[in-house]
Amino acid sequence: MQILSQLSHEMQIFFVIILGLIFGSFGTLVSYRLAHKQPIGFTRSKCLSCGYILKAWNLIPIFSWLFQRGKCSGCHAKISLRYPLIELVFLLSFLLIFFALGQNLDAKTFLYFAIAGTMIVMVVVDLEEYFIPDSTQYFLAILATISLIMQGGTGAVLANIPDAFLFLGSGIALWTFFHFAAGVDALGIDDIKFFFIAGFMLGTKNILTFMLLSGVFGVLFGGLWQKFKKDSTFPFAPAICLSALVCLIFQKKINPVDLLGSMLFFNNF
Ligand SMILES: [Zn+2]
Repeated sequence: MQILSQLSHEMQIFFVIILGLIFGSFGTLVSYRLAHKQPIGFTRSKCLSCGYILKAWNLIPIFSWLFQRGKCSGCHAKISLRYPLIELVFLLSFLLIFFALGQNLDAKTFLYFAIAGTMIVMVVVDLEEYFIPDSTQYFLAILATISLIMQGGTGAVLANIPDAFLFLGSGIALWTFFHFAAGVDALGIDDIKFFFIAGFMLGTKNILTFMLLSGVFGVLFGGLWQKFKKDSTFPFAPAICLSALVCLIFQKKINPVDLLGSMLFFNNF
């Protein structure tokens, strides 16, 4: 950490980019193996069509895909766009976190990289296979615990346990509302588990923002999904993960009560 903070500003950004690409590449592997219920071991990556074992130059994030024009070096089968896309999303979210947290390469920034990375894996598996792996939820709960300890010791951890149940309750209420009033199962059991961990991580002070953003992102994303995928069930992880990440990064800067108040009463707050 000490060495990193002594790097020049440009070198710090370069470091974040490299880290984003390395973790992005790891994220493509983890999400694939979790989605297909395979163990995450450090076996050599192979072409899914011909079994060609990928060499070092085939494993450079984003660039290998571009130079090979999205084709395997062995059999020229198409390599899915998922690989460069996931790597790009990791890279962009790491940069966003680095800048949003005041451009410090400290423990908090690295913790947030890990949280964002875990959520990206959740989103990818949900988009591809319509579930959120339990192992990613446990891992996120561990990261949330570390985050709370860093903020306020074990007291902060205990204080947020009721908040987790409050979020869980609102998730169940939302499911019930959609199920009986609209006749759709908008939320799955995995989404409701996520609400519990989000509540633990964010606390009640973020519940309005989280619910509001989840609703807005959910409607936007659900609309796009139905238009392009023509599927009435849609993965909810993108909406709730994005909301949780926005709340986590900007939690002190947005307050829906103030926002609504200032809109209605023109800055009387
Ligand atoms: Zn091949």
